[in-house]
Amino acid sequence: MAKVLCVLYDDPVDGYPPSYARDGVPQIARYHDGQTTPTPQALDFTPGELLGSVSGELGLRSFLEERGHTLVVTSDKDGPDSEFERELTDAEVVISQPFWPAYLTAERIAKAPQLKLALTAGIGSDHVDLQAAIDRGLTVAEVTYSNSISVAEHVVMMILALVRNYIPSYQWVIDGGWNIADCVSRSYDLEGMQVGTVAAGRIGSAVLRRLKPFEVGLHYTDRHRLPADVEQELGATFHDSVESLVEVCDVVTINAPLHPETENLFDERLLAKMKRGAYLINTARGKICDRDAVARACESGQLAGYAGDVWFPQPAPRDHPWRSMPHHGMTPHVSGTSLSAQARYAAGAREILECYFDGRPIREEYLIVNAGALAGAGAHAYSAGNATGGSDEAARFTAG
Ligand code: NDP
Repeated sequence: MAKVLCVLYDDPVDGYPPSYARDGVPQIARYHDGQTTPTPQALDFTPGELLGSVSGELGLRSFLEERGHTLVVTSDKDGPDSEFERELTDAEVVISQPFWPAYLTAERIAKAPQLKLALTAGIGSDHVDLQAAIDRGLTVAEVTYSNSISVAEHVVMMILALVRNYIPSYQWVIDGGWNIADCVSRSYDLEGMQVGTVAAGRIGSAVLRRLKPFEVGLHYTDRHRLPADVEQELGATFHDSVESLVEVCDVVTINAPLHPETENLFDERLLAKMKRGAYLINTARGKICDRDAVARACESGQLAGYAGDVWFPQPAPRDHPWRSMPHHGMTPHVSGTSLSAQARYAAGAREILECYFDGRPIREEYLIVNAGALAGAGAHAYSAGNATGGSDEAARFTAG
């Protein structure tokens, strides 16, 4: 029987919700490319409930315990004395979410001799040292597509929030003001702007599709060019380098995974190549951008605004400069964990566990690492290597 160690974010400060704003979430059977949403044999939760926090347990407890497995759920994930690190020593499966990542570094993998499966309830497995997982022969799987549209919607919202100066205008209302000039002196229309995505995978291409009706110029760069008919349908211009894309864009959105090729991609040099007053939206991973260079670019006006929900490490230290730099629209890491998204990735986590325990193959599109190599979605979108360096700084949030 296996021990499953699950790291989830804390419950709301006022306790687990007794009721919800709506009576359910729409049921979606297929994604845009035809891939089916998760197909577990059964579900022990009601879609629309808070599943991603500690008390929600991803709806997995009765399923696992009925099969004789042990489920340990904790939010205490950082530092050598954390419950995560203590429980890891005999865990066979680790489940984590990118929003509150249990960093599975090479050192931690070495302390977990029974570990076989690292499951990401969501998308983005950069919190696992993928090189160490390859070397140890672990399986790393994620619930591909489960929250891609959730993020694409968030990106569109953040682009509009920055360009139209929504957040400061809202603040004037809260503060009792009617300061129209203060609101509009940084407010523009998106119409006619050039908008580009770094990566046109599931999220990036969904952002392009959603922005097309705004009558903007669309641009993308990616390792693989989109099929000609898709490019034509979107009216998107391909750039063979990120430099070429940023030079022409008023708005840039980052939608690539974090791996050695993309770590620190938006450094001082690349930010300097952007148009003065461009907006940068990053819902991919914090480490793709140079933290201090972004803060300086917001202060100097090189960037007119920066928004996103991803930081490094997570939780971000209380003195992280993105909390206080001017003209930002940052939130904690939330875009991929709406209640709608949680229902899908909790079902996907269950599907993967059912396959794992029944000895059936995990869907190819869910695999990131398998049998000592990048596999499935991981082989397409990642490069081997480690992007967890520096994650121990996450312990500063709890200590601070
Ligand atoms: P996909 O795998 O569908 O798309 C990723 C795309 O990135 C692929 O098209 C891939 O190219 C491209 N890519 C990889 N490396 C590069 C590079 N060096 N330069 C340009 N393009 C590159 O994943 P999703 O769109 O679903 O998700 C993307 C990322 O978004 C996730 O990995 C995760 O980090 C983040 N995310 C954030 C969430 C949040 O809550 N904020 C939730 C979900 C995801 P190709 O395959 O052609 O090689």
